[in-house]
Amino acid sequence: MKTITIMVPAYNEEESLHYLYERLFGVVDGQKGYSFELLFVNDGSQDETLPIIKELREMDKRVSFVDLSRNFGKEIAMIAGLDHAKGDAVVIMDADLQDPPELIPEMIEYWEAGYDDVFAKRRSRAGESLMKKATSSLFYKVLEKMSDVPIQKDTGDFRLLDRRCVEALKKIRESQRYTKGMFSWVGYNKKEILFDRDPRVSGETKWNYKKLADLAIEGITSFTTAPLRLSSFLGMGVSFFAFLYMIWIISKTLLYGESVAGYPSLMSAILFLGGIQLIVLGIIGEYLGRVFNETKIRPLYFVDEYNEEKVTNRSDLV
Ligand code: UDP
Ligand code: MG
Repeated sequence: MKTITIMVPAYNEEESLHYLYERLFGVVDGQKGYSFELLFVNDGSQDETLPIIKELREMDKRVSFVDLSRNFGKEIAMIAGLDHAKGDAVVIMDADLQDPPELIPEMIEYWEAGYDDVFAKRRSRAGESLMKKATSSLFYKVLEKMSDVPIQKDTGDFRLLDRRCVEALKKIRESQRYTKGMFSWVGYNKKEILFDRDPRVSGETKWNYKKLADLAIEGITSFTTAPLRLSSFLGMGVSFFAFLYMIWIISKTLLYGESVAGYPSLMSAILFLGGIQLIVLGIIGEYLGRVFNETKIRPLYFVDEYNEEKVTNRSDLV
C-alpha cells in the first residue's frame, strides 16, 4: 500500500488545526488503497499549536509532528517537513485551509498517471487585498523576465510531490531558500490544476510587506544574477554618455575658453552617478550577503521533538 504524507507547516495556528484535521481526513478517508500520514511541522509557535497537535496524535496515530527549536520561517519549516516525511508522495499544504484539501484526490489521480509534481494554480485570490494582488503580479513579471527557470505564476506551495522530487529538493541545502523557485528548478513532470483560493478560516496572515519584499529579493537573488549584469550594462551606458559629454565639454572649452559656470550640470552629474553607484553597491551587497550566509554552512534547523521523542540533532539529518 502506498503512503501519502500531508505535510503542514504551522506557526501559531491553534484555531485552524481542528478544522484542518476534520476536513482533511473527511476527504482522504474516501481514498481507499492509500495510507495517510499527517505531518505537522511546528515552526516555533507561541500559542497552543503544539499541545493541540499532540492531542490530535493521541487520538489518531496517523498524525505525526516535527517540533522545531524556534521559529525558522515557512521555507525552512518546509524542508524540515520534507526531511521527515515518510510517504511515497508528499502533499504540502497550509494550515489555514486556504488550500482546499478537496483537491488532493485529483492530485493523487494525476500522480498515479505518472506526474511527479502536481501543483495547484489559483484561479482567483479571494480575501487578498488589491495591493497584494498587484504587488505579487508585478513580482512574478520581474522574476519571469530575469531568471532562466520558468517560475509558475499564481501558484503557492500547495502541491503533491513524488518521492523523486522530494529527494531532489532535500539535496538543496541553501539556507536562504526560495522554495517556489526550487520546485521549477528540480524539473520532472509537472501538471497544473486550477482552484479558487479561499480566505483564511481564522487568524491573520503572518505575511507583511517587509516579509514579501524579503521573499522577492530572495527569489531574485537566489535564481538569477541578472541584476549584476544589469549593473554592468548600466555602468557601460552611463560611461558612454559621460564620454560623449566629455568630448563636447573639452571641444567647447578649447573653442570658446572656460568661464567658470556649470554648477548645475556638475551637481546633477555627481548626484546621479552617486545614486547609481549606491544602487549597484547594494545589488553587489545582496549577492555578497548570500555568499556570506551560505559559506557558514550552518544546519538549516534544529528539531526539538519528533513524535514525542526529544531529539539530539544528528549531523545526518540536518
Ligand atoms: N508559517 C510557518 N512559519 C512562519 C510563517 C508561516 O510555518 O514563520 C506557515 C503558516 O502556519 C501557514 C503557512 O506557513 O500554514 C502559510 O502562512 P500564511 O497563511 O500566514 O501565509 P499566506 O497564506 O498569507 O501566504
Ligand atoms: Mg495563508
